[in-house]
Amino acid sequence: MLHAMSRNTGKVGAAQAGLFADDYLEEPYWWSAAPLSAADGNTVPVSLDGKADVVIVGGGITGLVAALHLARSGCDVAVLDAQRIGEGAARRNAGFVGRTLKRSVEWLAERSGREHAMKVYRELDAALHGVQAFVERERIECHYQTCGRFIAANSKAHFRALIAELEQTRQAVGFDYSVVEKHDVHTEIASDCYHGGAVIPDLGSIHPGLYHAGLVRKALDAGVRLYPLTNVVGVDHGASGKTIRTSKGDIAALHVVVATNGYTSRNLKWLARRVIPFRGFVIATELLPPETIDKVIPRRRTYLDTRMNIDFIRPAPDSSRILFGGMTGTASSTATPLAGALRDRLVKILPDLKGVRLSRAWTGHCAGTFDFMPHIGTKDGVHFALGYNFAGIPLGTHFGEKIAARILQRGDTSSVFDVEKFPTAPFFNGSPWFVPLAMRYFDWHDDRIAKG
Ligand SMILES: Cc1cc2nc3c(=O)[nH]c(=O)nc-3n(C[C@H](O)[C@H](O)[C@H](O)COP(=O)(O)OP(=O)(O)OC[C@H]3O[C@@H](n4cnc5c(N)ncnc54)[C@H](O)[C@@H]3O)c2cc1C
Repeated sequence: MLHAMSRNTGKVGAAQAGLFADDYLEEPYWWSAAPLSAADGNTVPVSLDGKADVVIVGGGITGLVAALHLARSGCDVAVLDAQRIGEGAARRNAGFVGRTLKRSVEWLAERSGREHAMKVYRELDAALHGVQAFVERERIECHYQTCGRFIAANSKAHFRALIAELEQTRQAVGFDYSVVEKHDVHTEIASDCYHGGAVIPDLGSIHPGLYHAGLVRKALDAGVRLYPLTNVVGVDHGASGKTIRTSKGDIAALHVVVATNGYTSRNLKWLARRVIPFRGFVIATELLPPETIDKVIPRRRTYLDTRMNIDFIRPAPDSSRILFGGMTGTASSTATPLAGALRDRLVKILPDLKGVRLSRAWTGHCAGTFDFMPHIGTKDGVHFALGYNFAGIPLGTHFGEKIAARILQRGDTSSVFDVEKFPTAPFFNGSPWFVPLAMRYFDWHDDRIAKG
């Protein structure tokens, strides 16, 4: 235990005794089943080949889905990643698959018209069902389940607002939901923290490590070349194509795709000025008796609350553990210092887990945008798709397919998220110094709503 702890956490304070299980690691839980291995293309770095039809910057979900489709259509595709393949958010996320968007149908309708709002939600729905269909079609074994999601209301006012929003969405685009009154909350989750909630039955969950590992395998089988530890520092535009400058030398390509989401590096200047990186944090408990899981989350769904800065809970799909996330946007580059506070939050919600120890804690970069919308588009002839605001599993898959269709000029290339305006803010250069402040503002705002 101490070996793992000292390797990952430095000193183990007395206050942390009883917090960590013997096998504790600061590492994504998903990496146990899907380690970043040589089979993922993480071999000894080789020097870049001189050219490719398409160069993709970023080997996460978006980059690999695009690469797979392009390679199967005969393109020579090189995927370059500054880290190891799979080290980004693709294998660090929580595996919730939904139609997540921080803007409601009504909010969008008021600002850009009902037709536009409906298109936005229909495309989110297409992305949700698209990822499920893709996983089935490709036979990627990654525990995809239509488990349904329980959204728990943090106050009476949040409950009223939640049900009003779900009803408006149902009327606009037909998405089903069922109301859970306060006295029935325990049928969903063994918590007294909530004032009711709602179940969205068609939302899903996935094992993100196995999903991404499956994508890597398919991409390699299709002939995609993967270059880990290859940092792209710039793209030059010439008459006959583009030259991508990297830490491993230059590579020429006809097409370039940037799929870097929350890891977008500052040297990708135009995009770095538009993507707000912020950290998500997740813990995994030690192995629990299955009866405990059945008691605390009897329907084994995904769970989150109605705050802007959400807490989220799910069961591990392949073992008896509970995964919990929260404290998003906290300014800490590692998760272990937050592990105690995260466990406290989890136990406050689920008191039956009092004394539970942790087997994993980890963090990863998500990407926000100034308009809270995901973006797909082209800038100076370079394709991009990012800014997923916590919804990159369905949207990364969906936009990866769209970008491939655009390069191949075949299939449905349109997207309601391809808008001319991709806002930035004065002086913003990619440094997210204001995220903790923004999170505090969201907390204050949520408390105000709660007071009615
Ligand atoms: C803790 C956490 C929880 C989340 N939970 C969910 C969830 O439940 N559901 C959901 O849908 N989404 C969730 N997300 C978001 C989701 O993981 C991402 O939106 C998703 O992975 C999409 O990003 P991607 O896979 O395309 O890119 P990523 O996997 O983030 O990969 C981007 C890659 O770009 C590379 N890169 C960046 N700059 C350069 C450069 N200059 N040169 C070369 N390479 C570069 C990086 O090294 C990185 O590997 C979560 C994210 C986090 C961090």
